[in-house]
Amino acid sequence: MTEANRRQTVLSGMRPTGRLHLGHYHGVLKNWARLQSEYDCFFFVADWHALTTDYGDAEQLSEHVIDMAIDWLATGIDPQAATLFVQSQVREHAELHLLLSMTTPLSWLERVPSYKEQREKLAGKSLDTYGFLGYPLLQAADILVYGAEFVPVGADQVAHVELTREVARRFNHLHGRKVLAEPQALLTRFAKMPGLDGQKMSKSYHNAIELREAPEQVEKKIRTMPTDPARVRRSDPGDPGKCPAWQFHEVYSSEQTRQWARQGCVSAGIGCVECKRPLIDAVLEELEPIRKAASVYEEDPGAVRAILWAGAERARESAEATMQQARDAMGLSRWQSESPAPMR
Ligand code: SF4
Repeated sequence: MTEANRRQTVLSGMRPTGRLHLGHYHGVLKNWARLQSEYDCFFFVADWHALTTDYGDAEQLSEHVIDMAIDWLATGIDPQAATLFVQSQVREHAELHLLLSMTTPLSWLERVPSYKEQREKLAGKSLDTYGFLGYPLLQAADILVYGAEFVPVGADQVAHVELTREVARRFNHLHGRKVLAEPQALLTRFAKMPGLDGQKMSKSYHNAIELREAPEQVEKKIRTMPTDPARVRRSDPGDPGKCPAWQFHEVYSSEQTRQWARQGCVSAGIGCVECKRPLIDAVLEELEPIRKAASVYEEDPGAVRAILWAGAERARESAEATMQQARDAMGLSRWQSESPAPMR
């Protein structure tokens, strides 16, 4: 492939948290599906990252890895179009992380905004570890080891890409050659999928609909999700602005259905059960092909593992090319090219 027709590289990863939900689908996976047709994409399961905060809770990690990969595949993330792999199967991430840790000042890591925020958010966990402080550097290694040109991020993660750029610049400067390419943030407006209670959809808030959830369960969850709390009786007019189900209409319904719901709500012309019917139908319709595709992989987890192994092999090939240059720049491979002195 010539430089002219080489596609630019995008890297993105997700921590393995088990089965994915509609928030992941609307927020990340639909974007990945689009990116894989435009860029050379590396999508990885960030299992080492999961250990930076959940090191004491690693028992379910391998199950979570496979579950997440099944959901990626079922939503159209295509192993022929993108490289899908598990971070810990490509040891070059760890090697570059180690080499970068030699030259990265501690203060750069301490000032990453999410370091303080996460420590406060996860106050119940003991996070006085190097792994936790160093995770933005591991992230930098994840990106730099593939020479990724773009990293899709929301506005709150731009600081991580900026740190990666600084780390690359420092490395190149100290070693007098351009080994590591500086990535750009591919600023992405992640579609927000509200949870059943109107907060952000998240497993830990218990307000999520999983992609492989049984249809009866999905229907029940939407039927019983909260509405405008002031609309106690069917005859009380409601306010869509105070109703989590209305936020689902904003994601799923046409303008015509939204008008019908809004009008029916403020005039008490329709009841909440009636108002939620089009939402139930739309979510079930969206999830049906995903559930079907996932069931094929559920029956054959060996095929999922094979996809991840093949992806790791492709990823290693690309990562190894960067590592050879990085080792060489740090003087680690020079002695290997000289023939050993004869033994006496
Ligand atoms: S009618 Fe619809 S928008 Fe109004 S409160 Fe009920 S569910 Fe919400």
